[in-house]
Amino acid sequence: LDYTDGVGWHDPRIVPYQPISLDPSAMIFHYGQSVFEGLKAYVTVDNDALLFRADQNFKRLNRSNERLCIPAIDEELALEGLKQLVTVDRDWIPNNPGTSLYIRPFIIATEPNLGVHPSKKYHFIIIMSPSGSYYKEGINPVKILVEEQFVRAVKGGTGEAKTGGNYASALKGQEIASREGYAQTLWLDGKENKYIEEVGSMNIFFKINGIVITPALNGSILPGITRDSMIQVLKFKGIPVEERQISIDEVVEAHQNGTLEEVFGTGTAAVISPVGELKYLDDKMSINKGEIGEISQMLYDTLTGLQYGSIDDTFGWTIRL
Ligand code: PMP
Repeated sequence: LDYTDGVGWHDPRIVPYQPISLDPSAMIFHYGQSVFEGLKAYVTVDNDALLFRADQNFKRLNRSNERLCIPAIDEELALEGLKQLVTVDRDWIPNNPGTSLYIRPFIIATEPNLGVHPSKKYHFIIIMSPSGSYYKEGINPVKILVEEQFVRAVKGGTGEAKTGGNYASALKGQEIASREGYAQTLWLDGKENKYIEEVGSMNIFFKINGIVITPALNGSILPGITRDSMIQVLKFKGIPVEERQISIDEVVEAHQNGTLEEVFGTGTAAVISPVGELKYLDDKMSINKGEIGEISQMLYDTLTGLQYGSIDDTFGWTIRL
């Protein structure tokens, strides 16, 4: 799909995967005006193709568009287009346990212009690729490093939008974490360097003294669709869940007094990732003896059960094709 100022979005088409040609002065190369999404198509146990809450991805794409001064897309048309595309590529959805077809919708500014202003032209493209399971043997606790030098997002910035620049600013922290043998970075807030925000590609949850706590959406955290889904599942199961500010000190204290019971991340790629170790400054906190917690396991089973159609979708989240 293309956008031209004065014409709007036009020319929806499905074409074979191929390179695209852009002017060297296309604004995306210079000023980072881009947004994207990430979602998956699954093959269910009864052999249907299934999308999980794809409507929410296009809603979020439009919220990112608004922040990045990109014209809104028609969410319903985008969903219809995606359904057609997945239907055409149905055979590319792998059907081994834990596998899926990863879907990456994205919009880039294409106007050839070196002036700093919102572009007058855009491409909206959806690419897809079969993906294996994130962890070879189902779910596995990961090690996370709390980043204290760099920040990913600040109040009033673009943290809650899914835009390339957020990921560029996160690379340095990710590099440090990888070098130390950690899977991902846990980001703290950009003002006081104290409140927990999120992990590189997941939102984060802490179970302290029987209560599941996740940072409230504050404008600099990506509103994860898995995060929202898991909050709803926890409420449905009657498990106490709180969306509120939570500081790293509260987590350290809970670890010290033995009430930090579970930590896990949520995300489209990560599904539910239990955290087995959290490192903050020189403190390596082992969580739940490095094992998968009860809540993490329950959420993983529920989420994958819905996505692979082995449990009934009473939430109305699944779209069968
Ligand atoms: N935070 C960040 C920074 C992410 O990139 C992702 C992955 N999209 C998430 C959280 C989780 O979001 P979702 O559950 O919608 O995949």
